[in-house]
Amino acid sequence: MDGIIDSPSPNYDARDQAISMVVLHYTGMRDAESAIARLRDPEAAVSCHYLIAEDGQILRMVAEENRAWHAGQSYWRGVSGVNACSIGIEIVNPGHEFGYRPFTEEQMAALMPLLSAIVIRYAIPPANVVGHSDVAPARKEDPGELFDWARLAKHRLAIARPTRDLVDPHWTDGGCLLALERWGYDVRDAQKAVIAFQRRFRPELLDGAIDGECRAILLQLLLDRERGKSI
Ligand SMILES: [Zn+2]
Repeated sequence: MDGIIDSPSPNYDARDQAISMVVLHYTGMRDAESAIARLRDPEAAVSCHYLIAEDGQILRMVAEENRAWHAGQSYWRGVSGVNACSIGIEIVNPGHEFGYRPFTEEQMAALMPLLSAIVIRYAIPPANVVGHSDVAPARKEDPGELFDWARLAKHRLAIARPTRDLVDPHWTDGGCLLALERWGYDVRDAQKAVIAFQRRFRPELLDGAIDGECRAILLQLLLDRERGKSI
């Protein structure tokens, strides 16, 4: 893609799985310079494939064919350690620790074609375009509740929040956790898994409590998946 600047990181190794996921992050540091420095520091041992600055400039830090170290201990849909099978994209934002704010229009405008090309290149299903908090719910909050998943969903680059015909299945909390696990989450920390789900599909209320709306959204996601409307 045009306009990408190479800013190589030494923090990668060989993949042992095919690419089947994209994990989106925020950098969570005071400014872009410190985030980029950390992602290139051998001592930090973290990296990503792409970083999107607040002005929309994209940096390539690790080649897609290699495994970047962005997700850490992670799990999604039966796969542990998703770095091996994912592309990691860091979007510059101070994050919850240093002043979380909306991502810029320039960042979103840069992300869309980048993500679209990756999804097409590797035939990645929309359900496998996820946030860091989805694959590491006990540890991570990024890219956070201000990330515009709906914009991605409009272009079939992520799963949309179900809004129609929602019905509360009245599962027990245990039943709801099984359903969350079936959708893809690691539910060993139940409350954190619920918050991660809320961040993604019901961002206006992140209380970690299972309620009728959460159950209804989750049921609809699973039904849509069974009917082949999402994968
Ligand atoms: Zn992250």
